[in-house]
Amino acid sequence: LRLVGASADAEERAAEMALRPKSLDEFIGQDRVREQLSLVLDAAKGRGRTADHVLLSGGPGLGKTTLAMIIASEMQAPLRITSGPAITHAGDLAAILSSLAEGEVLFLDEVHRMARPAEELLYMAMEDFRVDVVVGKGPGATAIPLELPAFTLVGATTRAGMLPAPLRDRFGFTAHMDLYEPAELELVLRRSATLLGVDLRPDGAREVALRSRGTPRIANRLLRRVRDFAEVRGSGVVTGPVAAAALEIYEVDALGLDRLDRAVLDSLCRLFGGGPVGLSTLAVAVGEEPETVEVVAEPFLVRAGMLARTPRGRIATPAAWAHLGLVPPRGTFA
Ligand code: ATP
Repeated sequence: LRLVGASADAEERAAEMALRPKSLDEFIGQDRVREQLSLVLDAAKGRGRTADHVLLSGGPGLGKTTLAMIIASEMQAPLRITSGPAITHAGDLAAILSSLAEGEVLFLDEVHRMARPAEELLYMAMEDFRVDVVVGKGPGATAIPLELPAFTLVGATTRAGMLPAPLRDRFGFTAHMDLYEPAELELVLRRSATLLGVDLRPDGAREVALRSRGTPRIANRLLRRVRDFAEVRGSGVVTGPVAAAALEIYEVDALGLDRLDRAVLDSLCRLFGGGPVGLSTLAVAVGEEPETVEVVAEPFLVRAGMLARTPRGRIATPAAWAHLGLVPPRGTFA
C-alpha cells in the first residue's frame, strides 16, 4: 500500500475532483505563482486575447492539473487534457491542435516526454498558430501549411531542466511549484474537511499536515484515511492523537516518510556507508527508475534535511542516520 506515494490512480482522481479549487482565490499557497499567473491572465483578458503559453514545473500532486483547470475557467475557455507520452507521432499532435476551439486551453502533462518530431511541430504551433502537415514520403513529400485557432498551451513537467531550450523559450511564463509548507497544508486540509463534512480539529490538521510530504494530494489522501479511522474507532472527531493513531496503522511515520523514502535512506546508510553514491546506483539498489528517485523521493528528503546532493553523489546527513536509529561509521561527520 503506497499511502504517501505522490501519484494518483483513477479512483483517487475521481475523489480529487470534488476537492479541486475552482479559482485562483481558492488555490492555497504558491503565493508567488498565484500572483504572477493572475497578472498574466488579467492582462490577456484586458486585451481580449488568449493568454500566453504557461509552463508549470513541479513534482507530482502539487496542483499542476488544478492550475490548468483554473486557467481555463478564469479565461472562460474550454480545456483539453492530454499528455506527452500519449503523443507518439507528429500527426497525433497535429490532429489535436487542428481540432481545438478558438481560445481553448490545451493541457499537456509530462511535456518533456513527447516524441521528438511532435515536439518540433509544437514549436511552430506555439509561435505562429500554424503547422506544416507533411503529406507523402520521399522526394514527392509536400508540406501543407495549416492555420490553427489561437490557443493557450499549459505544459506541465516534473523536470523543467529536461526540456530542450527551444521549447522552454516558447513559454511566455514559467511557474516553479515548490513543496508546500505545513501551515499551507493545514489550510488545504481545513478546506477539504469542510467540503467532506469532516470534524477536523486544529491539532488534527497539524498532525496530518506534518506527515504529508509537502504535497496537497497526500494531505487529502491521509485525511480520507484518518476520517475512516475516526468514524470506525472513535466519535468521528479528528484530533491530533486520533490522526497520529490512524497514521500509525497505515505506517506513515512521524515525518511522513514513504516506503521509497525509507528505502533510499536505508540503502544510502546500510549499503553505501552514507555515500556519496551516484543517483543511478542508488536507484538500482532500491529497484526504481532514477527519475522516480530524483523526482519523487529526493525533493522531500532534501527538504527534510536528511539527504544532500553533492557533485560527488548523494550523501546521508546526521538526521538520516538518527531517523533510521543507526549510528554513522566513526569519522563520518568529524
Ligand atoms: P500530477 O502531476 O501527479 O497529475 P498535479 O500536480 O497535477 O499532479 P493535482 O492533480 O492538480 O496535482 O492536485 C492533486 C490534488 O491536490 C487535487 O485534488 C487538488 O484538489 C489538491 N490540490 C493541489 N493543489 C492545491 C492547492 N494549492 N490548494 C488546494 N488543493 C490543492
